[in-house]
Amino acid sequence: MLNLVLFGPPGAGKGTQSAHLIEKYQLVHLSTGDILRSEVAAQTALGLEAKKLMDAGTLVPDAVVIGMISSKIDANPKAKGFIFDGFPRTIAQAEALDTLLQQKETAISMMLALEVDNEELTKRLLLRGKDSGRPDDSNEEIIKNRINEYNTKTAPLKSYYTGQGKFSAVPGIGSIETIFASLANAIDAITV
Ligand code: ADP
Repeated sequence: MLNLVLFGPPGAGKGTQSAHLIEKYQLVHLSTGDILRSEVAAQTALGLEAKKLMDAGTLVPDAVVIGMISSKIDANPKAKGFIFDGFPRTIAQAEALDTLLQQKETAISMMLALEVDNEELTKRLLLRGKDSGRPDDSNEEIIKNRINEYNTKTAPLKSYYTGQGKFSAVPGIGSIETIFASLANAIDAITV
């Protein structure tokens, strides 16, 4: 199986690149942000609870997202591999993911990081907020909180995966096609 973790701050372009990667490598896309937003839209108990945190740009509890990912993995027994987008976001989530995949006799193949500076991120998120209507994209304070959550809780995952020899970084600035080509090169380097 090819199991990829896409890594990068909010606005780095993980969703855009995932769409291209799933097509090329025939992977199942698991985005915790998308799953949470569908729970919010369906007004489930989980969605109502998560909404407050998401609107403030704060991470939802580990146990919630780990449970969601676990059931999505189980729901796709024939998958050739997965792209994890927006997950794991904490060390606890990364450890839980390793355990879940181990139970399926598979593992993370690599973590692909999209590198984009803070100034460019804020610009992209505010622009996205204008047409997406996402409450967490429309306010600079909330964006700052998300970037701060990323720097304190998520950035340490770089060393986690470096320690496992699985970390690879590509520049997240440039055209969508150029960035995609860099990602594909990094993947092909480990699969051929
Ligand atoms: P972004 O576009 O900022 O990368 P996402 O769409 O992935 O964000 O997620 C939006 C919000 O959903 C996050 O700010 C957070 O509140 C919540 N969320 C998504 N994934 C996770 C996760 N793995 N752990 C905790 N919270 C999460």
